[in-house]
Amino acid sequence: MPEETAKASKGGPPAWPWSESFWRLLFPPRCLTCEALLPPPPGLPLCRSCQRQFTPAGLICPRCGTIFRLGQPCGCPLDTLPLKGLYALSWYEGAWRRMLHRLKFEQKRSLARPLGRWLGELVARETAWEPELVIPVPLHRRRLAERGYNQALLLARFAAQALQLPLRPLLVKPKPTLPQSSLSYQQRRENVRGAFAYRGKPLPGKRALLVDDIYSTGATMQEAARVLSEQGLIVYGAAAAFTPRLSPPC
Ligand SMILES: [Zn+2]
Ligand SMILES: [Zn+2]
Repeated sequence: MPEETAKASKGGPPAWPWSESFWRLLFPPRCLTCEALLPPPPGLPLCRSCQRQFTPAGLICPRCGTIFRLGQPCGCPLDTLPLKGLYALSWYEGAWRRMLHRLKFEQKRSLARPLGRWLGELVARETAWEPELVIPVPLHRRRLAERGYNQALLLARFAAQALQLPLRPLLVKPKPTLPQSSLSYQQRRENVRGAFAYRGKPLPGKRALLVDDIYSTGATMQEAARVLSEQGLIVYGAAAAFTPRLSPPC
């Protein structure tokens, strides 16, 4: 598959064919959670009322789940783990949870644009990761055929656009898995073990941002990061929502 690039190449056509103003005319910006029209100029993709109820998550330890903005760093040895960091926009609860449900199960693909862009902007502003490419967590082809799209790919595409980085779908998921939400912590790890495969040339030493919609036990993203790190990539994770672990890490 050719490299998908969010950044317009010099002299070539832009990756996004429509101008921002044309896009806004067709799809006026709406609040992510209550869908109220948002006034110009472009700012946060939430109305004032929903901003007051929004709980930012931010940088989180992908091993123990410590939220760094709420206290001291935890001291987990992240250098030795496949996933070196995790950034999430908010908690998987309330209006934010309902919004992600619409994105994932109710064909509300239009949510991915403001959501992915916001995620990309915050990763650029609030982390020191400096990723060089963006990789979506893939779906198995059967799930993709059922849903018609991969919400993680949509989020990754717009995060890449905000970060002005190439989007590289370097992972595939040849093994079908059960929905993670129906399983215990240990079952989730076993469910995704060996589920992903690397597709593409090795990129040793490259810093990658791995994007998924929801990070809960982290089993999926940890397994995807393991496959990428075996190819020499340095992997950081970004998700639209985070939910605390079901049980402590092993
Ligand atoms: Zn709102
Ligand atoms: Zn930790």
